[in-house]
Amino acid sequence: MTPHADPQTGAAVKAADRAHVFHSWSAQGLIDPLAVAGAEGSYFWDYDGNRYLDFTSGLVYTNIGYQHAKVVAAIQEQAGKLATFAPAFAVEARSEAARLIAERTPGDLDKIFFTNGGAEAVENAIRMARLHTGRPKVLSAYRSYHGGTATAVNITGDPRRWASDNGTAGVVHFWAPFLYRSPFYSSTEAEECARALTHLEDTIAFEGPQTIAAIILETIPGTAGIMTPPPGYLAGVREICDRYGIVFVLDEVMAGFGRTGAWFAADHFDVVPDLITFAKGVNSGYVPLGGVAISAEIAATFDKRPYPGGLTYSGHPLACAAAVATIQVMADEKVVENAAAIGETVLGPGLRELAERHPSVGEVRGLGVFWALELVRDRETREPLVPYNASGEANAAMAAFGAACKKNGLWPFVNMNRTHAVPACNVSEAEAKEGLAALDAALSVADDWT
Ligand code: PMP
Repeated sequence: MTPHADPQTGAAVKAADRAHVFHSWSAQGLIDPLAVAGAEGSYFWDYDGNRYLDFTSGLVYTNIGYQHAKVVAAIQEQAGKLATFAPAFAVEARSEAARLIAERTPGDLDKIFFTNGGAEAVENAIRMARLHTGRPKVLSAYRSYHGGTATAVNITGDPRRWASDNGTAGVVHFWAPFLYRSPFYSSTEAEECARALTHLEDTIAFEGPQTIAAIILETIPGTAGIMTPPPGYLAGVREICDRYGIVFVLDEVMAGFGRTGAWFAADHFDVVPDLITFAKGVNSGYVPLGGVAISAEIAATFDKRPYPGGLTYSGHPLACAAAVATIQVMADEKVVENAAAIGETVLGPGLRELAERHPSVGEVRGLGVFWALELVRDRETREPLVPYNASGEANAAMAAFGAACKKNGLWPFVNMNRTHAVPACNVSEAEAKEGLAALDAALSVADDWT
């Protein structure tokens, strides 16, 4: 896995990219994507001989790292055996993936609808909830992300929604708990939990419970800031959903499959939703795959009545073979246990120690291999280091922080005024410590803006 320099190839790859690839979420003329030559485990490298420790896990999905030999072999074997087959048939890899996933989801969420990614999972979960209840509305939280397709982006509760938001009927946003920037001016977790539940009940009362199909929450919101809900909140939402016959959807696209040190983040809170959306870590993203895990009651709605939704590549054999191999690797190599231990013994204490020394760190929060540092200009006022959604000059502080990470061999996740430490779930102790050392150096740069 030693990178060697091949700048000419790198330049050609970059030139073709700039000529023909239209990138997501980007101003095409302002970006300069790194040409990637290869990747293995927790690292990737460019054509100029630079190697980076990936503290982003791609887009928080390479939960077993890059190029795991067993998963690569499983994909190759499946390609040789049966590279593709349409969804209306029973196919070994698909059946086995569904069984392994259903065994790990909480409660009776034992039926699996496969998609190609997270947004499609969310679209279908919402459709199932609407058809199951016969009601139109969906309640979702601010400070959330649910995907880039029509409904998924409209229920998203952050600026990524704005450009696509045409006020879609039936989408209502509410505030979920977040003590550090409490929408309810709370000073304790218990207060925040109680107030957030009252706010949700009030929202339901004034929207009309009989009009609400679903409440969707990321179990632990990911890209919006890794905000672990206070004890009792998700159980409280479960109870509210039961009272009003509302479908409770937990979006575990990012938090699921080991990220939090459990198979599903819901496991930490002892709560069983009606639907779970998943993607990313289910097969470490080696082949696109997502899905919805469905409760027995909702599955029964579609027992005699057809489910009106589907995708040509639903449960693609290559993606499912990758899921079977990934889940086996995670079980055999104790990857979920590793994520929990690294969080408890290395990343958690290490990041808190950085916060003590760096005035730019306002808060450290997270668990497993799912951590956020909230960077601030002033710890007292909690003013964000850069304004939300800042670009250009306004973003200079975060841009300098990101550049310093890269200079120190770390590829960082940076969003608004936050950086997230989200390495692979099988990251080693030495790699996690290497990441902390690079963050230490980069935070000294961020401190200049405090
Ligand atoms: N839900 C959550 C919680 C996510 O983090 C994401 C992706 N970051 C999505 C949904 C959308 O997934 P995809 O990009 O695979 O469509």
